[in-house]
Amino acid sequence: MSKFWSPFVKELVPYVPGEQPKLTNLVKLNTNENPYGPSPKALAAMQAELTENLRLYPDPNGERLKRAVADYYHVRPDQVFVGNGSDEVLAHIFHGLFQHGKPLLFPDVTYSFYPVYCGLYGIAYEPIALDDKFQIEMADYARPNGGIIFPNPNAPTGCLLPLEAIERLLQKNPDSVVVVDEAYIDFGGESAVALVDRYPNLLVTQTLSKSRSLAGLRVGLAVGHPDLIEALERIKNSFNSFPLDRIAIAGAAAAFEDRAYFEQTCQQVIASREALTVAMQELGFEVLPSAANFIFARHPQRDAAALAAGLREHGVIVRHFKQGRIEQFLRISIGAPEQNQALIDALKHIG
Ligand code: PMP
Repeated sequence: MSKFWSPFVKELVPYVPGEQPKLTNLVKLNTNENPYGPSPKALAAMQAELTENLRLYPDPNGERLKRAVADYYHVRPDQVFVGNGSDEVLAHIFHGLFQHGKPLLFPDVTYSFYPVYCGLYGIAYEPIALDDKFQIEMADYARPNGGIIFPNPNAPTGCLLPLEAIERLLQKNPDSVVVVDEAYIDFGGESAVALVDRYPNLLVTQTLSKSRSLAGLRVGLAVGHPDLIEALERIKNSFNSFPLDRIAIAGAAAAFEDRAYFEQTCQQVIASREALTVAMQELGFEVLPSAANFIFARHPQRDAAALAAGLREHGVIVRHFKQGRIEQFLRISIGAPEQNQALIDALKHIG
């Protein structure tokens, strides 16, 4: 800590990302990447951009990508905002869309970037406890708030809320912004984008890092009422502007256009998730029902931190959170079948 740090910087508690190990022979099941790689059409679109157009500045509005997203969701391009990963989209939302003076509400077990952004932007917040089955109970959010945000499915539990529960929340909460973070929605959930035309306070965020396997490209987006999208554009353009680069726009648009590859690879991940769940249960693990590309599991007799360390010694990395109620869980990303088998084999060896 330097004497030049302001009290504000001293108080910041930054987000701790999952490890990105240097060793390539590890079975990496710790940051929910997609084992199948991006659409070949997205790769071809990026290659064409690289060889033909890199001397030109990108379109500051990313119109090509907005159109592809709008076509996919049957909305208009002015209902779409795009950014460098959904983390950046979320940063803009936290920076400008929540009311101050009343607390932002989010689940007490959720994506750990939310309290970090609250610290950065000086937003008061109130974590709302999950129920005893680790589910979000929407009735608990019916209280005065400066905004509400939750992932659906939730992270790191993987538990999914039905669209009806989200719609009931929106009906009871017309006066502040409700954000549904759908980073993992494509692995079995129904998108709340279907509700944006009816609820002008709803904003749905998504990422291309998971179901479209482009985590390294850094593309995320939000869909909502044009007024909310315009607010986000104003916030974005009040910085030195962070437009997407040409490769990101071309690759992300092509990934949205290639529905067949997207659907096929999502189905493969879902099938692997179900198979891995059964295999883990056979080893005595309790696995929460997941609609994401990861599972959240605990063993009644085995310590999660020791399991994570033992797995690592066998070349398998999973995520363990040293955090109250979830300390006995492991979050395990769904890999290719042979990676999932390596995990099961390693668990058997650890004994
Ligand atoms: N939301 C949730 C719930 C996540 O788990 C993640 C991934 N860590 C993100 C948003 C951010 O994803 P990205 O920045 O790669 O789009």
